[in-house]
Amino acid sequence: MNSMIIKNGNIVTAEKIFKGDIEIRDEKIIRIGPELDTKDVQVIDVDGSLILPGIIDSHVHFEEIFSGGLKNADDFESGTRAAAAGGVTTVIDFTSPQARNESLVKAFQRRRRQADPKVFVDYSLHCCFPGGVTSELLSEMGKIKDIGAPSFKIFTAGEDLGLNRGEVFAVMQQAAKLGVMVDVHAEEGDIINFLEKRLLKADKKSLSFFPQSRPNFIEETVVHDLIRFNAYLKGKLYFVHLSAGESVDVLDLTRDLHGEVFGETCPQYLLLTDSCYEFDNGEQYAIVPPLRHAEDQKRLWQAIKEGVIQVVGTDHCPFMSQYKQGKSDFTQVPKGMGSVELLLPLMFSEGVVKKRISVNQLVQVLSTNPAKIFGMFPRKGTIALNSDADLVIFNPGEKWQVSTDKLVSRADFSPYDLFELTGKVEMTISRGEVVYRDGKILGKAGRGQFIFRRL
Ligand SMILES: [Zn+2]
Repeated sequence: MNSMIIKNGNIVTAEKIFKGDIEIRDEKIIRIGPELDTKDVQVIDVDGSLILPGIIDSHVHFEEIFSGGLKNADDFESGTRAAAAGGVTTVIDFTSPQARNESLVKAFQRRRRQADPKVFVDYSLHCCFPGGVTSELLSEMGKIKDIGAPSFKIFTAGEDLGLNRGEVFAVMQQAAKLGVMVDVHAEEGDIINFLEKRLLKADKKSLSFFPQSRPNFIEETVVHDLIRFNAYLKGKLYFVHLSAGESVDVLDLTRDLHGEVFGETCPQYLLLTDSCYEFDNGEQYAIVPPLRHAEDQKRLWQAIKEGVIQVVGTDHCPFMSQYKQGKSDFTQVPKGMGSVELLLPLMFSEGVVKKRISVNQLVQVLSTNPAKIFGMFPRKGTIALNSDADLVIFNPGEKWQVSTDKLVSRADFSPYDLFELTGKVEMTISRGEVVYRDGKILGKAGRGQFIFRRL
């Protein structure tokens, strides 16, 4: 018999917290209750630690190739090992179109072949739209939905991927017809281009000028416009990595109008500010959108607390530091940082311990909401009978210091190096299998599964 009982936990869901035991069999949760009978079963006594549903990081980039052939630091193997170490049992990565107009299905299949043999935890993919929307690509969206990935990512900025408003509208219209999600990278590409050129011409090239190329309104106006499109089309819209207080205000003010519109932010926008661009290694903090101000952070935390922002994901996309160091100007620095294995500890320590959000809200934004929004609930995102046995055993009192050297990610830079945190992942269970325990990754590459999502 392959039953296992997790004993003496404080079980946390999106709604409540209660003492109890959890019995697991064949990858699923089969019993939850006080004092379960432990005869003939393997027992793990967690001695009062928290048991949370497995964390879902709905925004990661592993093993992606960028312009000039540059690769990011983590592949699907190191990335999902890092995820396991951080209590993340499901990640949603993206397809990675390699050419304008590239077939969505082809790009999707290529990404599955890359990921399947390497993943340590479960995963899914958002389907990225390449630049240049054609009727062929639009007609492929139904096929992508049918193979279990009902979410499409579009960009409103960027040379290769940026869509104009007509193309954005076309994708949103087709998505609304199919009942699938459109994920939006919301930045005004044309205005960024203009501001970048002007800054470079004035010899304002250092990282400290980077935020001036992308002021807050660059994000806010796209959020505003697309919420209007969506009100007309009655679709589903999800804004990734929101950074600006103004964007939160737009989401809040249009709540009655927008139906199914969701917002995501990331730990970096909650915990770091653009003062990092003044550091000697400021280029290591180059991400898009850029880091903002203390007032934006405050507004974002408030938005999480009030449910205006529903998800916190990482946008994990670190590069080895050598590729960011010493570039001639801020436009040349690869943009991205990583935090997949710190997502839960950071949000617990800075959110729950500092009383900005409750532990139930933590579970909502890191697990339950992404599972619901992206079509994995109740298989993922909760602790309930018949749900996958994806669990994190978390010691809420343990104090520790982040050290980049000790992180599982291959990245040699972490913006959270030397952060003092309260609360640590002790164990991660993915579909009933212990994949991380006391600092060690267990399980093997390829054990993770592609999760078929339905909306
Ligand atoms: Zn991203």
